[in-house]
Amino acid sequence: MKFSNTYSQLDGAFYQRISPARVSRPQLLLWNDNLAGMLQLTDEFCRDKSLLAEYFSGNRLPDGADPIALAYAGHQFGSFNPQLGDGRAHLLGEILGAGGQRYDIQLKGSGQTRFSRQGDGKCAIGPAVREYIMSEAMFALGVPTSRCLAVVGSGDLVFREAAKPGAIVTRVAASHIRVGTFEYFAARGDMESLKALADFTLDRHFPEIARNGDLDNKDKILHLLQAVIGKQIQLIVSWLRVGFIHGVMNTDNTAVSGETIDFGPCAMMGIYHPGTVFSSIDSQGRYAFGNQPGIAQWNMARLAEALLPLIDTVPEKAVEQAEPLIRQFARDFDQAYREMLANKLGIASPCGQANELAKTLLGQMQDKQLDYTQTFTRLALSLEDATEAEKLSQELGPWYHDWRVLLTDTGIAASSARTLMDKTNPQVIPRNHHVEAIIKEYEESGASQRIDDFLTVLRSPYRRLAQTPDFQDLPADGDRHYRTFCGT
Ligand code: AMP
Ligand code: MG
Repeated sequence: MKFSNTYSQLDGAFYQRISPARVSRPQLLLWNDNLAGMLQLTDEFCRDKSLLAEYFSGNRLPDGADPIALAYAGHQFGSFNPQLGDGRAHLLGEILGAGGQRYDIQLKGSGQTRFSRQGDGKCAIGPAVREYIMSEAMFALGVPTSRCLAVVGSGDLVFREAAKPGAIVTRVAASHIRVGTFEYFAARGDMESLKALADFTLDRHFPEIARNGDLDNKDKILHLLQAVIGKQIQLIVSWLRVGFIHGVMNTDNTAVSGETIDFGPCAMMGIYHPGTVFSSIDSQGRYAFGNQPGIAQWNMARLAEALLPLIDTVPEKAVEQAEPLIRQFARDFDQAYREMLANKLGIASPCGQANELAKTLLGQMQDKQLDYTQTFTRLALSLEDATEAEKLSQELGPWYHDWRVLLTDTGIAASSARTLMDKTNPQVIPRNHHVEAIIKEYEESGASQRIDDFLTVLRSPYRRLAQTPDFQDLPADGDRHYRTFCGT
């Protein structure tokens, strides 16, 4: 592993330098070969499983690692907490990937830090396996996301509602800079660090802005805000396309890179309903499926607030410049969302009629309790399968006819509509009951006979494989009783 660390070169206010805790019997449970390739890890490095278990449990530090726990704050369910930070994670350092892209390599569940508050710094095997499966599925679905390189069993017990086997998950992300990182320095009035963080973020994620000689410092901050907003819009549209519910969209879980991070209570929506919530702690439904765009906009407003002092020393003037960008979120989101929905119906460029059709379809799916994923894949199939077309026209009534007429009237051939639909609508999502079944196997025996097949299927979400049907059946209770937990 060739580390090339930049975050740990920042001032000490940004982190605590601290080594991971030792674990008693590290055992490599999951290893991501594909990601190891992207990170240019050599075959020789990847060969020795017991050495990998030592490295990715935190028992042994790879050469060049400089472990730190990052400071950040965050709005959790709407309330500001000025002091969060990595309470159970260690950033080992950064690695340059095959394309020159810089990746953070972070251990999670690797012991206490200055930021642990009451927590034990550990992670149970369930949430670790869940993060591995869900992030891998999201990556294959084409959703911007952090990924997991490894899950290592610690050999120690962690105590949650019951004693559970412990694990460490290695997360690989474009960075771990969160909206909450900006809030941390803004809340302390530490302008020097806030400025250093903005410069660092620009260099790392938006070099085209950083290097644009036509922009002064204040303009660069406004461009940074606009760029982060753009990434957030793309992210949420992708989530809505595949039916993903993050579950805990606090500002400390919002990466400015626009990647999905922190998979704690996330889940997939089966039956379409914008009010779908699975997280046991989200009793008000703040982070329900259909609320995600509004929450993302709210989170961007918190980022804007944190950046205000860098935009203008006169607060009113700063607000005047940042506010239009936040308002523009809604319009830009709407446009991107309409385009995505049109694509789901086989229509490349959105129009008023496509939008109306999409809205009516979603309404029908909600009323008739139809599965979100299956409805779109069945529609695609029906373009070339008369039996499916007949069935859907029975189920959806005149809507089905109207949709086909719109395709014909706008001169879209069935085959090109199908092609667009097939790459927009996944055949495969990580169905909640299958994710839970695999996690249960790990909790009970530290292994799963079926995970390789499951991952193979998840890695091919737009193409059915022989094993696909084994993992795409619908849950018997329609997920009505399904609950997720933060896994802390
Ligand atoms: P999360 O729910 O994973 O987004 O975590 C929210 C905050 O709680 C972060 O600051 C975490 O580092 C911290 N945290 C969560 N679980 C633990 C734990 N078991 N030990 C220490 N800190 C934790
Ligand atoms: Mg978090």
